[in-house]
Amino acid sequence: MKKVVIIGAGIAGLTCGIYAQRSGLETEILEMHTIAGGECTGWDRGDYHFDGCIHWLMGSSPDMDLHRIWRDTGALDDNVTIVNHESFMRYEAGGRVVELYTNADRLEQHLLEISPKDKSEIKKLCKAIRALGEFGIPIDKPMDMMTAGDGLRFAVKLVGKMGMMSRYSKMKMEELAALFKEPLIGRSMLASIPGDYAATALVVTLAGMHRGDSGFPIGGSRALAKRMEQKYLSLGGKVRYRTRVEKIVVKEGRAMGVKLSDGGEVHGDYVISCADGYHTLHHLLDNNYTPEIYNKLFSDTKAYPTPTCALVFMGINAEVGGHGRGVSIQREQPVNVGGMQSDFISLLSYGYDNTMSPKGKSVIAAFYNGNFDYWHALKDDKEAYRAAKQELIDDATEALVKYYPEAEGRIEKIDVVTPETYVRYCNAWRGSWMSWGSGSKDIPRYFPGLLDGLDGFIMAGMWTLPPGGLPGAATAGRFAAHRICIKEGIAFNA
Ligand SMILES: Cc1cc2nc3c(=O)[nH]c(=O)nc-3n(C[C@H](O)[C@H](O)[C@H](O)COP(=O)(O)OP(=O)(O)OC[C@H]3O[C@@H](n4cnc5c(N)ncnc54)[C@H](O)[C@@H]3O)c2cc1C
Repeated sequence: MKKVVIIGAGIAGLTCGIYAQRSGLETEILEMHTIAGGECTGWDRGDYHFDGCIHWLMGSSPDMDLHRIWRDTGALDDNVTIVNHESFMRYEAGGRVVELYTNADRLEQHLLEISPKDKSEIKKLCKAIRALGEFGIPIDKPMDMMTAGDGLRFAVKLVGKMGMMSRYSKMKMEELAALFKEPLIGRSMLASIPGDYAATALVVTLAGMHRGDSGFPIGGSRALAKRMEQKYLSLGGKVRYRTRVEKIVVKEGRAMGVKLSDGGEVHGDYVISCADGYHTLHHLLDNNYTPEIYNKLFSDTKAYPTPTCALVFMGINAEVGGHGRGVSIQREQPVNVGGMQSDFISLLSYGYDNTMSPKGKSVIAAFYNGNFDYWHALKDDKEAYRAAKQELIDDATEALVKYYPEAEGRIEKIDVVTPETYVRYCNAWRGSWMSWGSGSKDIPRYFPGLLDGLDGFIMAGMWTLPPGGLPGAATAGRFAAHRICIKEGIAFNA
C-alpha cells in the first residue's frame, strides 16, 4: 500500500487524508499545532466560545456539488443544523439603514425604496444574484484532468449567465460600490466585502444565500473541524500533533518524505503539503521549485493583495446582538486604529448559535480589516504590540456600548486576534486567511500543485484554488487525493 505524508491538519489536509484513506491509501498527517482545523477554528474563554472562522459555509445546501465533500468528510451530517440568515449584513449610517437581504426579491425592493434613481444597477445586481446561485467549483476531478465533456457539463450550468459572471468578475468591489448614485448603498457593500476584492465575491455569496446555500453550521468552526478529524481517524488515518515539518526531503528529483524540527524524518511515497503556500514553496522547499506565477503573485502585495484582519472578541454577561449576523456602523468621524483608517465598525453577533455562550450571555466580535505590515513591525516589541491591541479593545468596547448600552459594565472576557496570530498558529503568509481574490486576470483559477523537477509531491490547500476559503481548501485536498489515485490506477472512493 502506498504511503502519503500530508503536511497540515487544516481543512485541506483533513479532506485529503479522508479521501485518500477511503480510497485505500495509507496516510499520516503531521500538524504543528495541538488541534486540527488550521484557520478553521475557535476557542473557549470561560463561559464563552469565540469562533475564529466560519461566517458562511458554501456548500451547506444539499443542492450544491460542494455539499458532497462536506458530507463525505463528516464536516456536515444529519445532526448539524444550518442557520440561513435573512440578512447578510445590516449597515447603519446616521439613522439610515441598509439591510443586505439574502432573498434577492426582498433585497431589490428594499434597495429600490432607498434609491429609486439606482433602479437600473439594482435590477442588474439582483438579476445576477438570482441567476448565479448554482455557481461553484467543479469538484469531480482535478480541473487539469477534466475532459472536454466534463468541461461542457460544467459550462452548461452557466449558459446564459456568462455575461453576468464576467461583468462582476471584471470589477472590484470599490468599482461596484461606485456604480450606485446613492453612496449609502455602495458603502453598505464595502462594509461587507473589502474594496480590493472582485465584485463576484459579494454577488456569488448573495446568490448562494438566495438559493438557500452558504449558511452557518451550528457549533461553528472548531466543531466542524473536529468532526472531520474524527472521520479521518475512524478511517484508520494517523495524525501527529505538535509536529512541525522543517523541510521536504528530496532525492534525485523526488520527494521522499519530510524532515521534522526535532530532527526526525517521516518517509512516504508521496508528500502533499496542505500548509500555507508561501511557507511550502519558500521554506519547506527552499524556493527551489517555485513556479513563476507564484513568484509574481507573492512578490507584489499591492497588485495582488490577500486579506487578513484583526478581531476583538467580547464575552458579555447580557443578551445583546439578537439573532442576525451583525451590523456595520458608519463612524461619525473616521479613526486610525490597527494601522488602518476605519470608516465603520462591524459588530458580528452569534446569538443564532447557543453553543457560543450560555443563556443570558452573548458573544460579539468587532471585525477590522487588517494591516499586516503594521502588526508585523510591532511583533518583537511586546509593549508596543500590547498597546496596539489595547487601542483596538478600547475602540471595540466603546463602539459596543454605544450601540448596545445594555453591555455597559458587563464585558467579562476579551480576546484580540491580529494578523500575527495567523502567522503564529498557522504559518500563514502575511496573516492571510484567503488567497488572491482581486479577480486580476493574472491570478490562475486553479493551480494543479505539481512542481517542475519534483516528482512525488503535490501542493494543495487554499493557495491552489484562489480565492481559497473553506471551499478552495477542501476541494484542493480532494483533488490531491484523487490525483494520486489516478496515478496509482486505483479507484477514487468518493
Ligand atoms: C476570521 C476568518 C474568517 C473566515 N471566514 C470564512 C468563511 O466564512 N467561509 C470560508 O469559506 N472561509 C473562511 N475563512 C477562511 C478559511 O478558514 C481558510 O481559507 C481555510 O481554513 C484554509 O484552509 P487550509 O487547509 O488551506 O489552510 P490552513 O487552515 O492554514 O491549514 C494549514 C495547516 O498546516 C499547519 N502547518 C503549517 N505549517 C506547518 C508545518 N511546517 N508543519 C506542520 N504543520 C504545519 C497549520 O498549523 C495548519 O493547521 C475565514 C478565515 C478566518 C481566519
